[in-house]
Amino acid sequence: MSVVDLVIDDAVVVTMDAARRVARGWIAIRDGAVAAVGEGPAPAASERIDARGGTVHPGFVSAHTHSMDAAAAGALDVSTPFFDWLFGTYYRTVLALTPADAAQAVRSLATDAARAGITTVLDCWGVGDVGTRRADEAFAASATAARTSGIRWILAPMVSDRLPEQWSPWLAAAERAGGFRREALVAPTETALRFAASALDAAASRLSVFACTELPEMASDELLSGLAGLDAPGVTTHLCASDAGAAGILGPDGRGERAVARLERLGVLSPRLVGAHLSATDADDRELLASHGCGGAHCAASSMYAGSGRSALGELRESGIGIGLGLDNRSLNTPADMVAEMRHALAFDRAVGTGARRVTASDLLAHATIDAARVVGMAELLGSLEPGKRADLVLRAASDSRSMPPEAQIVLASRPDDVQLVLVDGEPVFTR
Ligand SMILES: [Zn+2]
Repeated sequence: MSVVDLVIDDAVVVTMDAARRVARGWIAIRDGAVAAVGEGPAPAASERIDARGGTVHPGFVSAHTHSMDAAAAGALDVSTPFFDWLFGTYYRTVLALTPADAAQAVRSLATDAARAGITTVLDCWGVGDVGTRRADEAFAASATAARTSGIRWILAPMVSDRLPEQWSPWLAAAERAGGFRREALVAPTETALRFAASALDAAASRLSVFACTELPEMASDELLSGLAGLDAPGVTTHLCASDAGAAGILGPDGRGERAVARLERLGVLSPRLVGAHLSATDADDRELLASHGCGGAHCAASSMYAGSGRSALGELRESGIGIGLGLDNRSLNTPADMVAEMRHALAFDRAVGTGARRVTASDLLAHATIDAARVVGMAELLGSLEPGKRADLVLRAASDSRSMPPEAQIVLASRPDDVQLVLVDGEPVFTR
């Protein structure tokens, strides 16, 4: 092999490739990509890092995140019913953001992500008021902050054009409490589609842009099929409450329609779709999602902090739907930390799991890396350490618990300050 740019030597390289190969040796990087992983003598390199027996693993991918409520961090100290949190905490926070605040919220998540080894985030973004100058400027400021953060960022601006009638009592309560305007949550269909379409122009190098509506229940048929028809690399939405007729959604026959069936009818189901949560699917929903190759994002910590008593992970895995983990909201989770998220998911599954089999720590490492990369449509580039893939990786200090398999050790025995170096495209985004 000719001289490479960087070798990390004396490392335990957890590749997360299809064979789950673990190499006790080195990883070589050239032009921002993995050149080779091997054992024995390392190739000549312009720069060499001695890992001293530390672990190298793929950078984590968060398949569902919200950067914008960074200013509400700490809100979970008080347990609040879901809609009171959504309108009274989340929306009250994001509706007050200036474009400068929106940039700062992205930088805040980027800083936390980098130090935690999270190299890619799918960010369901929104400050409300789609169609106004404030929203345009906040999106532009967020995109600039994301582009310059070093982190691989997928911005998914949420647009909506209807509010379920059933939500009126909660909307009214949030309005009475102040700082919340229900009209800020929706825009006319054409305005929403124009905003989503023009956002796609922000994509550049490490920044991608997906189409997104907050919830199918907050989108007309016209908006959903319009978003699916945009030339975006992905489409994402929260897809949790799929009861027939939930939030007043009626099918063409005037009867209640399940959210997943509706998305199929409108042509939204495809491998491009990332459904966040998938927490209330039935067997038909799961079969539809799996047969269309859709992906899902499981957000254990935010679900538990919001009071959920049921982990959908097991039933989703059994159905064959690709699942990535997601950090979800800053106001419903602790600072961005994928190891903590994997542990939350493991405990959630063991305590109140679904399906016949319980997940393992190494299953969860896959859900946080290669599976999540597949869910966001980037498995050709990310998620495992194999020649040709981008060099998005984490170097951790050697652990005391060497008797454990390295995959389980990352999940169960690592500490946040083990992270020594985080690379995206072979460039450092965090160094200790
Ligand atoms: Zn969410």
